[in-house]
Amino acid sequence: MGQIQKLPASVVNQIAAGEVVERPASVVKEMMENAIDAGARRLEVSVERGGKDLIRIADDGEGIAAEEMLLAFQPHATSKLQTAEDLHRVRTLGFRGEALAAIAEISKVRCQTRRADAPEGSEIQIEAGIAGPIKSCGCPVGTVMEVRNLFFNTPVRRTFLKSDSTEAGHVAETFARIALAHPQVHMTFRSAGKIVHDLPAVAGVRERIATFFGRELAESLLWVEGKLEQVALWGYVGHPSQSRSSTKGQYLFLGGRYVRDRSLSHALNEAYRGLLMVGRNPVAFLNLEIPPEEVDVNVHPTKIEVRFRDPQRIYSHLLSTLRQTFLSSDLHSRLQAVP
Ligand code: ADP
Ligand code: MG
Repeated sequence: MGQIQKLPASVVNQIAAGEVVERPASVVKEMMENAIDAGARRLEVSVERGGKDLIRIADDGEGIAAEEMLLAFQPHATSKLQTAEDLHRVRTLGFRGEALAAIAEISKVRCQTRRADAPEGSEIQIEAGIAGPIKSCGCPVGTVMEVRNLFFNTPVRRTFLKSDSTEAGHVAETFARIALAHPQVHMTFRSAGKIVHDLPAVAGVRERIATFFGRELAESLLWVEGKLEQVALWGYVGHPSQSRSSTKGQYLFLGGRYVRDRSLSHALNEAYRGLLMVGRNPVAFLNLEIPPEEVDVNVHPTKIEVRFRDPQRIYSHLLSTLRQTFLSSDLHSRLQAVP
């Protein structure tokens, strides 16, 4: 071991970038979430070579002011919270102010953006964290982010990436999670020049479920809804006849964000006890809305894991709402037999 030294900013930033950006799909997630936070009604995602060569996200959201463009790519710079108290009441998908800085550190980014009150758009290019000049450009209101050559300056990371089709698969899964959580936004996905999905804005999510999982499954879904004081739960769960051998068809959204929670997955399986054969898993597309002070979403850089203040309460709310749903369906008689 040598002497203790403060790391140079570039190294600090690369380490931080590694926490947020694991693969192209991470970039797609962060940028789609930014677009939704910006109020986009339309969001276009395209990737080349699974996102390794190019990720392009275009939205018609509120855009970034020219004078804030540099700041947007600085670490810990965000328009979404100001004080420590705000941390406990975040309603946006982002708030850590890390993503753009992290992405720009390990790729070549071009951003074109325009706000509705700006006469023209502005453009910036950043390569490995080094920003070029801000130029004016013609562009519609909204933001286009292009990320090229991810990990080009961290070659070891780049070698950890999988084949183009595997990476494209991860991007597709990320796209599906966000599309299922935000059906009111028109979303398109292109991979290697081909349109994979073109999903018009819809009020309910069933149409999108049909797109991703097939019409037969979508038509068998049961509507679930239950409110317990401030905790709202709603969505669809699959009929037992539509069960799967893996848990891949299970989606839980908290405040519009895809999350994973062991305890809630357990509650879901528990609710189906007696309705499914061993080794089979239900499909579910469930949304939870909880007052922000009841949940900490700041436990993981990508926010995929969260911590509930009262997990037991959420667990039993989910379990009893699902049981209630089954009891008032054609599954009624099959449930009677369950002790
Ligand atoms: P965070 O989302 O946590 O605030 P980011 O690094 O993802 O951090 O983004 C930094 C800031 O850049 C955001 O707070 C927002 O003000 C702005 N921004 C990023 N993407 C967009 C976008 N697509 N449209 C409008 N503003 C954006
Ligand atoms: Mg963000």
